[in-house]
Amino acid sequence: MLNQFTNEQLANYKVYLNLIEERMLNKYFEEQKPYIFCKAGCSHCCEKGEYPVTKIELAYLLLGFSQLPFDLKTEIIDKIKRLKIEKLEYEQNRKNTDSVENFMYECPFLKDNKCSVYEFRAVICRTHGLMFFIDDENSIEPKNKIPYCVHLGLNYSNIYDAETDLLSEDKMKALGITQKPLAYNLSLKTLFNSEITKNLGFEFGEVKALIDWFPD
Ligand code: SF4
Repeated sequence: MLNQFTNEQLANYKVYLNLIEERMLNKYFEEQKPYIFCKAGCSHCCEKGEYPVTKIELAYLLLGFSQLPFDLKTEIIDKIKRLKIEKLEYEQNRKNTDSVENFMYECPFLKDNKCSVYEFRAVICRTHGLMFFIDDENSIEPKNKIPYCVHLGLNYSNIYDAETDLLSEDKMKALGITQKPLAYNLSLKTLFNSEITKNLGFEFGEVKALIDWFPD
C-alpha cells in the first residue's frame, strides 16, 4: 500500500494536510470555539463509524503505523482482522433483515481513547466535531448536520434544544454568545478538490471505508 506512492507524493499530501488545516479547519474550529468541547481523551468520533478514506490517506496512516511499537502494531493488526470478520458476519445477517445500515465499528487505530496515529490521521478525522452541511441538492436529510456528540452533552450542546432538535438562538442569547454557529461544507469531494490540491502531484481517487482497504 505504502510503496504505491513516492516519498514526494506523500510529502505533498502532508503539505496538503497542513494547508487545509491552516486555511480552513483551524479557522473553522476557532470560529466555533464557544460550541466546541473537543479535548484530548475524548474519542466518541472514533468509536463508531465507517471512516471513509482514500488510498493516499491510508498510505499516510500506515506510515504512522510503521513507526509504532511492535506490540501496538500487533494489536492493531489483530483488531483489523477481527473487524473484517465481524463485518462479514454483520453483512450476512443483514441479508435477512430490512436494514440498509452499514457496519459501524471502532477505528482500529484508536488505543486507550487516543488516536495512535494522530499526526497521520485522515482528512475526515480532522473535520470531526464541526457542524457541516450536506452538499447534495437531492438529499432529503436536514441540510445542517450537528455532530452526534451533541447528544452526549458535548459540541453545540450548550445551545441545543432537544425538543425541537435544533440549535436555539434563545440559548445563545442567554449565554451572551454573539458568534452564530456556522455549518461548513466539509464534504470530502469539496475538501479533496479544493484549490490547494491542484499542482500537488497526487490524486485522492476512490473512497472506501477504512477496513475495506485491508484484504480479507
Ligand atoms: S485514524 Fe485516529 S482520528 Fe481517525 S478515526 Fe481512527 S483513531 Fe480516530
